[in-house]
Amino acid sequence: MASKGLKRIGVRILLLPASSAGIFSLDPGRRRFITWFDMYRVFKNLTFCYAHRLWNYSGRCARLHGHNALVQVDFARTALTPTGMVVDFDEIKALVQSYLDEELDHRTILFRDDPLTEKLKEWGEPVVTMDQNPTAENLARMIFDFVKAKGLPIASVQVWETPSSCAEYSERNA
Ligand SMILES: [Zn+2]
Repeated sequence: MASKGLKRIGVRILLLPASSAGIFSLDPGRRRFITWFDMYRVFKNLTFCYAHRLWNYSGRCARLHGHNALVQVDFARTALTPTGMVVDFDEIKALVQSYLDEELDHRTILFRDDPLTEKLKEWGEPVVTMDQNPTAENLARMIFDFVKAKGLPIASVQVWETPSSCAEYSERNA
């Protein structure tokens, strides 16, 4: 049987104080290690309003509707800047809130192949098109990519579509 050669895979959880730093060996005999670094993080909440609908989808979100989105941006550094910050909150607001206001706020966000896109453009409505469905997940990725391209140490972006529904995008090495 194929299962005869399978080995048991153990999962261990190591709880350490937040100030711990260094490399810890869980099981030196098997060369299994965890690296643990100190990390500073800052979070800022921003908002924008948008309309969207999901293309090729059968649920109620296929109908055009709107959200008052809360966007939480999370930045992280292992060492602070000379001024003692991860990123200046004012810099975050100036950059990210401006992007949301100027590119997404009070606009209709649609998948590029959604036929509503052309209609709304004909009627002079401001439309933002995406290469993917305009889900909260894809919006989080789009905002993340914008901030990352500006060179800030972005760790994750959360988009809260409603007070109880949130999507997050992050990158392992961020
Ligand atoms: Zn929606």
